[in-house]
Amino acid sequence: MALKSASIPKILVIEDEERMARFIRLNLEHDGFLVNEGLTGREGLDKMRTFMPDLILLDIMLPDIDGFEVLKMIREIDNVPVIILTVKGEEDDRVRGLELGADDYVTKPFSPRELVSRVKAVLRRVEATGVGSEEIIEVDNRLKIDFSRREIWVDGNLVKLRPTEYRLLYHLVQNAGWVLTYDQILSRVWGYAYRDEPHYVRLYINYLRQKLEKDPSHPAYILTERGVGYRFVDYRRGKNLT
Ligand code: CA
Repeated sequence: MALKSASIPKILVIEDEERMARFIRLNLEHDGFLVNEGLTGREGLDKMRTFMPDLILLDIMLPDIDGFEVLKMIREIDNVPVIILTVKGEEDDRVRGLELGADDYVTKPFSPRELVSRVKAVLRRVEATGVGSEEIIEVDNRLKIDFSRREIWVDGNLVKLRPTEYRLLYHLVQNAGWVLTYDQILSRVWGYAYRDEPHYVRLYINYLRQKLEKDPSHPAYILTERGVGYRFVDYRRGKNLT
């Protein structure tokens, strides 16, 4: 997906067996990845929102939400690459996982080498399609966002954003030129439990505008689509689009 930190790839492991999760984490860390874990589907989805991984390793057999359901929820929110962990002999699982939008699968038991090479292959594929390459964006020489450092600059001054503000801005910019509905914003930034709370969106849009816009009452970056949601200005228009 676009605009992720490219320096050290972040991997989220959603796996309920702690020994397996640790095995995966140690091997990925050994290869220089930054790893975070979710021991249930729910925890995994939460971590996805806060950790913003470059790739997710998703176990299919999870105690709370079935891994396929988790995959569906991930795909509703985000196009982050997902590798599912399936069990030997369950070919149907692989097909179903790929149909639901998984990028690849690894079959348990696997060797550390196999796991790491699959992860690298998927990341390379994503990189090659041009996604994930844009780390720094500049809008009208005034607003600069460095996603790899999580830094926002306005008129050359570093602006401090709270984590929720940053996540909101991140998703808006990632979809620059496109409208994000209240529901989409709520599920991406706050989580499913907040789907009936559109006032959160309005409140945090307001915070962001106060911090970023030259004239918050006449925003030039974060535009209102009345009754629908919000759209980040298409800052790339006119630039070379490849
Ligand atoms: Ca499991």
